[in-house]
Amino acid sequence: MIPKNHPRYESLILRDKVKNAFIEGYLADTGMIAHGRGETFDYLIGEETVDSAYKAIEAAVALILLADNSVLSVNGNVTALAIDEIIELARETDSQIEINLFYRTEKRVDKIAELFKDHGYDNILGTNDDDLYYFDKINNPRATASLRGIYIADVILVPLEDGDRAELLKNAGKKIICIDLNPLSRTSEMSDISIVDNVVRAIPLMSKIAHEYKNKDKRFLENIVENFNNEENLKKSLNSFKIQKL
Ligand code: ATP
Repeated sequence: MIPKNHPRYESLILRDKVKNAFIEGYLADTGMIAHGRGETFDYLIGEETVDSAYKAIEAAVALILLADNSVLSVNGNVTALAIDEIIELARETDSQIEINLFYRTEKRVDKIAELFKDHGYDNILGTNDDDLYYFDKINNPRATASLRGIYIADVILVPLEDGDRAELLKNAGKKIICIDLNPLSRTSEMSDISIVDNVVRAIPLMSKIAHEYKNKDKRFLENIVENFNNEENLKKSLNSFKIQKL
């Protein structure tokens, strides 16, 4: 039991959720390592949504609302940390949710699908019963996508994606939005919009903004996307790292 007055309470709660997801069997051991890396970057940005992340979130929401088929990709970490929040975002933006695991096993996929069901979401894609296709006939588990979801999507949100998969999706002609606390990762560099923030803060903020934007006209949304420059914004994200204690 973590005492509420512990100075690192919020962070320890997240760590506990990730640890429990591993014990429950739907998060790979490497998912815990990825979380640890994320914690470090989060510490350095002050565990808050910095201005550049906010700008990226606005552009990301606009791009998702403009999409014909948008998909929110989920893995064990996102399920452990933000299951209700990602369901809410799917509803606000009329997106689909698809399971996409780096270390895909039937057991992990079933467990994640069951958790989404328990949280009121029945239509998850990428399950063991789904029609999974291979991009460019690359027979690699990282190249699979649901025929009804990522395979036909034009815009994909990939919270915590690895660089290879992001590249593969990009080469398949998709617009990629990532949420990754590391502005230097290959995923951040490769994405069309990179949100350097923690999924636990970014996803609810995206829903809030989507709620406000979904009644705006197309031109309003297009303007936001057109005025966003990912390379410049990533530099700003990097500059917001507090590496010196003043
Ligand atoms: P790449 O292949 O893109 O260079 P990588 O090899 O570091 O990146 P992974 O280890 O698969 O890729 O990805 C983990 C990434 O997710 C890390 O960059 C980490 O900072 C980030 N991350 C971990 N937890 C969170 C979180 N809660 N919110 C946002 N990002 C996170």
